[in-house]
Order: sequence, then C-alpha cells, then structure tokens
Amino acid sequence: MPVFVYHSRQMSTPAIQISRYHAFGHYLRRRFGCRVHKITLHAGMSCPNRDGTRAFGGCTFCNNTGFSPPARLAPEAIRAQMLAGMESARRRVRATKFIAYFQAYSNTHAPVEELARLYEQAWCSPDVVGLSIGTRPDCVDAAKIDLLAEHARRGEVWIEYGLQSAHDKTLQLVNRAHTYDEFVSAVKLTAGRGIRICVHTILGLPGETPEMMLETHRRIAELPIDGIKIHLLHIMRDTVMARQYERGEIPLLSREEYVSLVCDVIELLPPEMVIQRMHADAPADVLIAPQWCLDKSGVLNDIRSELVRRDSWQGKARGESLARLAALMTKPE
Ligand code: SF4
Repeated sequence: MPVFVYHSRQMSTPAIQISRYHAFGHYLRRRFGCRVHKITLHAGMSCPNRDGTRAFGGCTFCNNTGFSPPARLAPEAIRAQMLAGMESARRRVRATKFIAYFQAYSNTHAPVEELARLYEQAWCSPDVVGLSIGTRPDCVDAAKIDLLAEHARRGEVWIEYGLQSAHDKTLQLVNRAHTYDEFVSAVKLTAGRGIRICVHTILGLPGETPEMMLETHRRIAELPIDGIKIHLLHIMRDTVMARQYERGEIPLLSREEYVSLVCDVIELLPPEMVIQRMHADAPADVLIAPQWCLDKSGVLNDIRSELVRRDSWQGKARGESLARLAALMTKPE
C-alpha cells in the first residue's frame, strides 16, 4: 500500500497516512515509472465564449486581462515552447518525461488541419509521453476526436472539458454559454477512443447549495470520466464577478466549508477517477478573494486531515473499500 508522509497543519509531529484519494502525481509515477511534468503551452487560441462564435464576454469568473484575439504563431512556436519548458522543468523539478499541456483558452477551437499542425509540434522529443488538451464541451466534433484518437496511439492523451456545474441554471448565471447536455454529448463522443477524459468543476458557484454541488459530482461519477480538477470559486481582477463581489452579491466559501465539501465530493467519486487538482490556481497578483486559497499546500493538508478525521476515502459513499483504492493504486497502469 502506498504511503505518503506529510506534516499536517493541525499536528505538531509528522503524520504517516495512507493515500485516501487517487492523486494524479501518484498515477503518473505508476504509469511511467518516473517524474512526469506538464509543460504549459499557449497555442494562440481563442474562446467561443469570447469571440462571438457562441457568445461575447466570457464566463463571469474568467479573467480577461490576457485575452486577445487568436495570435498567429510562428510555425515552430509550440515546439520552441516545449523545448524551453522541458529544459526548465529538468532543472527545477528533475522531471524526465513530459506532457504537452495546451491550456490557455479553448484548444480545439480551430479547423482540424490547424489543430493537427499544432499538436504534431508537441512531439518534439522521445521524452514527450503525451498531450493534454484543455477545451470546452461545445468545441469538439467527430473529426477533432478522430485526430486526438490518432495521437492517443502514440502516447497518453487527455482532453480536459470545462463543465463547472451540472446545473443549467448556474451555467446560465455565470455565462458559460453551453449546457450540461452538451457536456454529456462531448463525453459520449470522446469515450472509448483511447482518449482520457478529465472534467473541471467549481465549488461555491453563485446560487448553488452544497446539495447542488454534490449532485454535479454524483452525475459525473456515473459518466466514463477518467480524471477531475476540482476548483474553489475565487474572485479575480477584471472579471464580471469581481464587480458583483464588490457589490456584495457573491458569497464565498470559507476554508473549512471548502475542505468539508471537497471531502464530500471525494467520497462520491469512483476510485478509478484520478484527482488532478483540488485547489484554486489563481496568481496572487490577480486574486481578490479569498486570500486563504493561496496556501495551496496547507489546504491540501487540511483535506487529507479531514479524510483521516472522518476515516474516509475516495468512493466510500459508493460502498468502495479503502483496500480496493489501495489495490488500484498499486496496480500497474
Ligand atoms: S473560462 Fe474558459 S470558456 Fe470561460 S471565457 Fe474563460 S476561456 Fe472561455
């Protein structure tokens, strides 16, 4: 059984804990036998929720500062970003294998021929073991999934669909400009093609009760989804939500509420689902609130401590045993 040693904020001595959730870092180590690092790329994409393809203005929580119309990249730009990122990650974190992470905006929002050219550049070294493509569920079609399926025969390919909530009322309120049904259709189109599916969710969206947030994750747990990134709603500068927050219209979760909700969510997820993230990821210079979310490692330790306090683990609410989770996490991928 894998063990992790960490210092809990609430304990004065080191605590030895079994892993109570299926963490992405652990999955990558098991799958590739070494340290794998994601290299974040900017492919010059736009977003259909900003450029008018679907809507203008973007999601109310999305920081617009860096938004510009799709930039024309030099033909070799992705390859150059990869090589520079790999060199830096080798030095900083001693990574030996890499996943090309097309992160900014919607990385399937272009003609399939252009996507083929961009994705191809990412395979710039034998040390590149995969691709991860961040996008929206309304931004894929059969030809784009065929392209990703081809890449999945060369290595590990993830597609990350932003969903945020399974409630259309909430999606409308935050101007996502897509529906839950569109997300389900995208997942069905992608499943069974050798592509790993990751979903992004947000806890604390306006108008949502804890029960609504849990319902989102109950629905996700029933879909063929391989990974999840759970985020905390946080307020960033230059967003519609920042103005709503200043007017007192957006209540935020406290640290304790967030930790408790994340643990409730973990209990609902199947043990096979890899948890890629469970904290906010806002740069300090654009974050307005809550400031406590900058303490990422402290929040992660709080989540681990809360799971221990509850004697709980991923999938417990589904009747899964801790022994099964441990067995899955030692099984070679
Ligand atoms: S959060 Fe994503 S989908 Fe929403 S506006 Fe920003 S880039 Fe577009």
